[in-house]
Amino acid sequence: MGRIGELVRLCRCVNVVLVGLVLISAPKAQAWSKEGHIMTCQIAQALLEPHAAEVVKNLLPDYVDGDLSALCTWPDQIRHWYKYRWTSSLHFIDTPDKACTFDYSRDCHDPHGVKDMCVAGAIKNFTSQLMHYREGSSDRRYNMTEALLFLSHLVGDIHQPMHVGFTSDEGGNTIQLRWFRHKSNLHHVWDREIILTAAADYYGKDMLLFLKDIQTNFTHGIWSEDVQSWGDCDSLLSCPNKYAAESISLACKWGYKGVEPGETLADEYFNSRMPIVVKRIAQGGVRLSMILNTIFGKNHHEIAAPA
Ligand SMILES: [Zn+2]
Repeated sequence: MGRIGELVRLCRCVNVVLVGLVLISAPKAQAWSKEGHIMTCQIAQALLEPHAAEVVKNLLPDYVDGDLSALCTWPDQIRHWYKYRWTSSLHFIDTPDKACTFDYSRDCHDPHGVKDMCVAGAIKNFTSQLMHYREGSSDRRYNMTEALLFLSHLVGDIHQPMHVGFTSDEGGNTIQLRWFRHKSNLHHVWDREIILTAAADYYGKDMLLFLKDIQTNFTHGIWSEDVQSWGDCDSLLSCPNKYAAESISLACKWGYKGVEPGETLADEYFNSRMPIVVKRIAQGGVRLSMILNTIFGKNHHEIAAPA
């Protein structure tokens, strides 16, 4: 029993407490758009090793026919349901304004200050839960399925730079502006606008073509030499800290940089930020596959499962 076990326990009791508490918190941002999540999960699933692929398939409900990406947006769909309202703070991290750094003990809490209730804490928690899979019996299957869906979704979210944003503007949600001709906000520009504009401008709105292009970039293209290092981190449970630190750094350098409320963002912003959005989707997918291959792979030696 160590930190992992404590985290799992903590999150369980927090769930109960928060069911009542979060009723008063205002609904917050979305997440990577549906398109961003779907591509992240498609990238990940295509990179699963046979044993991990089998486990993932077994955990998915039959009606999705083995397609993880079909349920990768599920945690966004249920976050405002009464039963799942406690999960609403698990999609993001609010960092101190202008700090441009992530510090787990300082920043990983919900708006009420409850510790571990942020996207990095949740990824650790669901990773720990999934490590129990091998010990689980069939009556635990439903929870394991939820843990898989949350993990798959949240690894996507933590890679969206504005999901690790400043507290006062709620990760850019309160920064109203225009995206080309329509009204939007800075958070949504990163969640969805850039992806949709790229899909329309370069891929004739064909998301499969978009996906294939991203995959080619790391198999044979511009990221093929970097992709190996994307999986690096000290241990599985420390990985989310690295991803969150990268995101807030990108949010400062590219997300918030030069943006004034009320302005119109157009070609210049799109052209310079699109490569970052696409790379984060790719990294999210590659890293999700690494996590799932580590948890569910045949060689289970790297991680000590919590007691
Ligand atoms: Zn989300």
